[in-house]
Amino acid sequence: MKGRNLIAEVSEALKNRNQIENLRTSMLCMRDKRDAAMAGYTERDVAELRSIRQSSLSSLNENIKILKERLEKNGCNFYFAKTAKDACEYVASLARSKAVKRIVKAKSMTTEEIELNKWLIAEGFEVIETDLGEWLVQIAGQRPSHLTAPAIHLSRYEISKLIEEKIGVKLPADPKEVTKFVRSFLREKFLTADMGITGGNILVAETGSLVIVTNEGNGRLVTSLPRIHVAIVGVEKLVRTWNDAVRILDVLPKSATGQKMATYITILNSGSETPLPNDGLAKREFHLVLLDNGRLNALQDKVMSEALKCIRCSACFNVCPTYSVLGGHVFGYIYSGPIGIPWTYISHGLENAASFASLCISCGLCRETCPINIDTPTMVSEIKHRYGARNGYRWVDRRLAGYEDLIKLASIAPDMSNFLLDTGTMKWILEKFIGIDRRVSLPKFSKKSLRELLDVAFASRTEGERKVAYFADSMAYYINTDVGLAAVNVLRKNGFEVTMPPQRGSGMPSFLYGLLDSTKNVAEYNVKHLYEYVSRGYDVVSTEPTAIYCFRFVYPKLLGTKEAQEVAEKSYELFGYLLRMLENNKLDLSFKRYKDVKAIYYLPCHSRHLSKDKPVLKFLEMLGIETEFIDYGCCGMGGTWGMKRGYEGYEISKVIAEPLVSAISESDVDFVVTECSLCKIQIERFTGKKVIHPILLLDKAYKGLPVP
Ligand code: SF4
Ligand code: SF4
Repeated sequence: MKGRNLIAEVSEALKNRNQIENLRTSMLCMRDKRDAAMAGYTERDVAELRSIRQSSLSSLNENIKILKERLEKNGCNFYFAKTAKDACEYVASLARSKAVKRIVKAKSMTTEEIELNKWLIAEGFEVIETDLGEWLVQIAGQRPSHLTAPAIHLSRYEISKLIEEKIGVKLPADPKEVTKFVRSFLREKFLTADMGITGGNILVAETGSLVIVTNEGNGRLVTSLPRIHVAIVGVEKLVRTWNDAVRILDVLPKSATGQKMATYITILNSGSETPLPNDGLAKREFHLVLLDNGRLNALQDKVMSEALKCIRCSACFNVCPTYSVLGGHVFGYIYSGPIGIPWTYISHGLENAASFASLCISCGLCRETCPINIDTPTMVSEIKHRYGARNGYRWVDRRLAGYEDLIKLASIAPDMSNFLLDTGTMKWILEKFIGIDRRVSLPKFSKKSLRELLDVAFASRTEGERKVAYFADSMAYYINTDVGLAAVNVLRKNGFEVTMPPQRGSGMPSFLYGLLDSTKNVAEYNVKHLYEYVSRGYDVVSTEPTAIYCFRFVYPKLLGTKEAQEVAEKSYELFGYLLRMLENNKLDLSFKRYKDVKAIYYLPCHSRHLSKDKPVLKFLEMLGIETEFIDYGCCGMGGTWGMKRGYEGYEISKVIAEPLVSAISESDVDFVVTECSLCKIQIERFTGKKVIHPILLLDKAYKGLPVP
């Protein structure tokens, strides 16, 4: 968006502590309710829903034809709006021709997308939002900040103050009182409105039905009191059959609000009829405006078509770390939140999507929580890539995307690098010319690389029955080499022949900043060398969850080759791999058990994608370590993103980390355990507690030594 100053917006949002607290409390509550409702929703369910969405999109043109025929047969009016302007013009001209004065609306992001209110108000119509949250943001002169909870950013105190300021009614800061007042305030508007406008959650082609899911009764009043009902629905909401619709209806309320079932599910096959006082029925006019506005183009786009599968449950909002501290007015354009980035691309173009895409830190939590596994991080990286290719990349992104190369370069002279990186001058240079905040303490380089150390430690190689190709990633290769050595030790102890193929970093830094050509180069190099081993029966394991995340979810899509797919299928995060051995009674259990050792386990974002079992927790338990598991989502580091200077990264990252940092700081544990080397930097810098990779504990236990 031209003229948008994101840094200024971020710095303002971070000063708004009330909003941050409101967002955190509401999102945590929604997340917990959702997790409870979705317990038992399996990978198979995900695949089934994905396939329903895919097949609906694949037969979209045919479904549109069927829908149109059915609707017209049902006596409804059908209009296909190619653009936002077409849709707005259709509604305005209909309203003019029917002498409409007052319009009531139910919550609809699609009408927000086309800025219908602005259009209708400019034409002289009175437009009133009737969903409580939408009404509040309307009187505040704002736009919704969340897909399903438009006023999530406002506290109850702010709400009662707002009503007093805008409506002149003083109310206690009590949600019940506010709801009671708004209900009676809106009743007269419903009764005197000439037109009702809604969106729609699903359109069913086979019967020409519109399905509206709401939790407030306003949707029913909007569709049944005014004499005309207009529904504006995106073309992607169309499914062929009721079987498909029912599957979506089952998941939507659970994933959105943690409800088994939504309070109101309204199904309209034609304009609804309302009983009249004289026993008659009032038939109302019904118009369906089916909206394209970029969707059909997106359907042809290999990467962005993924967004069309979205059922708009908003679960991804409630886990997004940057959204959780900045809110949807900063983390958004008109659409906000994670899926709002690709949706902005589809409906409002590349520039507007790129205006807030840099706030995505590629943690992948949105993808992991999505009931359809929609790959938002890949779409966001593609948007960054397309924007960078057209307008040039920001220099700070370009430099931090090359972080793995910088590590390699600095490791040539580790002693000198370690000395220089501690000096104020070098910190100033790094901030000014690379973009790394001077407050970041960079980890120390190992005197020798892991490969050099392994050549000495394992000069005489043993032939194991099982074979593993170890991928160290940059941090264990040049910095935390003790982690790499421990991994090789533990695997060898368990009878594995371990080799370390030629390798570069995982490529995540360049993926994060959208430099996808560089990511592709790295992926090609790694896949080429790993495949040599995979094709000979080796499994690939890594101590860095991000590396396996890249192998499984990034490389196959970027490269699209059989080799990348096979490497993905044979790649494992080390503790998930060891857990499988344990379950197959193949793990050597002759390790020491510890007593009176207390730790906190922090589960890194990318690990969540790799196993639902939290394998590290099981091992800590076996080691006798009294472990507290804390789950605050992302630590805010986002690879190198949390190192970015000032309000571009560091300041946001610090606020994201607050709940995690205070939980760790207040505990009396001896250390924190986590697999991710970047989470380690983040946790150590903000808590001062020691952070240990779990493989170091297991290695010491095999050697009968005390914890490191
Ligand atoms: S990857 Fe993480 S930061 Fe990016 S949109 Fe998804 S949840 Fe938000
Ligand atoms: S992307 Fe997934 S989680 Fe996010 S709103 Fe869409 S369906 Fe829900």
